[in-house]
Amino acid sequence: MQHKLVKGGLPAKTTTQHQRHRGCVYLIGAGAGDVELLTVKAYRLLQQADIVLYDWLANKEILKLLPAKTETVFVGKRAGHHSMPQEKICQLLTEHALMGKQVVRLKGGDPSIFGRLNEETRALSAHDIPFAIIPGITAASGCAAYSGIPLTERSCSQSVRFVTAHFKNPAEQPDWQNLASSRDTLVFYMGLNRITDIADQLIDHGMDKHLPMAIIDQGTTTGQQVCCTTLGSVGQQALWHDFTGPALIIVGEVVNKRQKVDLPLLAKQHS
Ligand code: SAH
Repeated sequence: MQHKLVKGGLPAKTTTQHQRHRGCVYLIGAGAGDVELLTVKAYRLLQQADIVLYDWLANKEILKLLPAKTETVFVGKRAGHHSMPQEKICQLLTEHALMGKQVVRLKGGDPSIFGRLNEETRALSAHDIPFAIIPGITAASGCAAYSGIPLTERSCSQSVRFVTAHFKNPAEQPDWQNLASSRDTLVFYMGLNRITDIADQLIDHGMDKHLPMAIIDQGTTTGQQVCCTTLGSVGQQALWHDFTGPALIIVGEVVNKRQKVDLPLLAKQHS
């Protein structure tokens, strides 16, 4: 389909014909790790997509579920290794939708949790491109379930907080005082390179050094590893030093409530 191009390379968006053939974008959460955590709705929309733009966090096995004709583009971003700038991703999404395509933007976990969702939806809104958001199982839920840790347990935690340990501006720190004084379960995303720093900050701001902490590497995958320790002794723990990520950190009494999950029960049954 031909479109008139306006300045900046994007097609004009106002012609009636264009409105009729305008594409759309589905921002889909792939779930954390295990490919089978994909929702039924996400699966259906992936089957219908003309093009799928996916992140490094989205399980690549999902791509094998796509029809052969589906175009796929890796727009991977790993913390510290930005292979494609965010503006470029927004531009690609917009361009393909304006060409009339059904576009899927596939993100790890849930798109609205530390997923730069708003930057992309703002760009789509600015071009009047219809879009929908399909939630996914976020790393906190996935890791908690597959490691047997209840994120809230009524005897010790009434709430849970998702905290980013990766700050756009490294000088910008979270409100440690506030975090350390809460009785919430704390879940840190993007904290693998800051594990001891997180523990030290929490202790320095008054948290009990005996409080348990779990580090879950590659949660929900066959490579999942869990290291349970305490804030005060995490520095001496050797296990997590080999963790490659993605990894999640859970801090709170709930870690002591952990029960053994029989993960082989989740494996595919072979007849
Ligand atoms: N939108 C994603 C989070 C993106 S931020 C979600 O909802 O899960 C990236 C961080 O998520 C990683 O640094 C890590 O802390 C966490 N993460 C994502 N997948 C994970 C997994 N399978 N196991 C452990 N942590 C994971």
